[in-house]
Amino acid sequence: MRENIKDYNLEELKEKFIEIGEKKYRAEQTFKWLYKENIIDFNDMTNLSLDLRNKLNELFYIPIFNIIKKQESKDGTKKYLFDVGDGNAIETVLMKYKYGYSICVSSQIGCKMGCKFCASTGIAFVRNLTAGEIVEQLQAVEREENIRISNIVFMGIGEPLDNYDNVIKAIRIINNDNGIAIGARHISISTSGIVPKIYKLADEKIQCTLSISLHSPVDEKRSELMPINKVYNIEELIKACKYYIEKTNRRVSFEYALAKERNDNLDDAKKLVRLLKGMNCHVNLIPINEVNNSDFRKSTNENIIRFRDYLNSKGIVATIRRELGSDIDAACGQLRRKNLN
Ligand code: SAH
Repeated sequence: MRENIKDYNLEELKEKFIEIGEKKYRAEQTFKWLYKENIIDFNDMTNLSLDLRNKLNELFYIPIFNIIKKQESKDGTKKYLFDVGDGNAIETVLMKYKYGYSICVSSQIGCKMGCKFCASTGIAFVRNLTAGEIVEQLQAVEREENIRISNIVFMGIGEPLDNYDNVIKAIRIINNDNGIAIGARHISISTSGIVPKIYKLADEKIQCTLSISLHSPVDEKRSELMPINKVYNIEELIKACKYYIEKTNRRVSFEYALAKERNDNLDDAKKLVRLLKGMNCHVNLIPINEVNNSDFRKSTNENIIRFRDYLNSKGIVATIRRELGSDIDAACGQLRRKNLN
């Protein structure tokens, strides 16, 4: 069976080339075609010999995601439903900011985390995405729109740290100077809080931004919202974040989706301040998106602003995230495979 060439990082591709009697630098040339040029046919890799191109065609295929559906929001955000080729589909979102394009990628087909407020909950987990499938989301969008993407966030469907090896491999491909060359500082991983993997990530020497989906500073409430908290509680989570900050010198982001009367009162804000005081961090407040399968309601604007102002007044940097794409179900936690059976 032919292999997906995008499941190889550059080091692995070099090893593979040696195995098939080719020089290492040919692997680098191939890698550049794939990622710098976004070429989707080995025959177009014109500085490779015909013999090598034939060999590549025999051993590998270049995955190409077809777009099943593309929706565009009033604010310019675009959502793609991609056919991953085995009957499954995933969603990817493209957002335009002043500084450039940012893409929100999925890391799994489905999710096992079961967060109560998220649209992925209640739909069966299918499988992990491979590294190549993660990277192809970005490349398929670049080809479709004829643009260069400058930022990537792992905030689509799935828990990236539950698919650790493939996510890290994808990041190394995206980060490689011979490839897409997006700097680690422009790559964010968002996690519900798989503590051992946070330690592992801290030791990878990648320097990407870590976002923690916190949503409550109180164990009892957080466990109710996010079952993962019963496995790794807030204290353990914060300890891991401090380790991450120490090792990488990077500021950690905390995501806090505000739900009416669930986690949006001043008492919660006070506890949050106590929890995060002195940490090199930033709090991202998200007006919770109301999804069909949950009964969470958005906080009032007044409460959201009061919450933010309280944090800021106590020295915790907090901003309210601008919601993009909510009219096409493309905002945080809204991605789900409702288009497919
Ligand atoms: N599994 C990872 C990444 C995917 S979710 C994680 O949990 O971080 C991306 C972000 O959207 C997370 O912060 C998640 O908590 C948040 N989110 C999920 N459902 C949401 C909703 N209904 N409204 C607002 N944010 C939501």
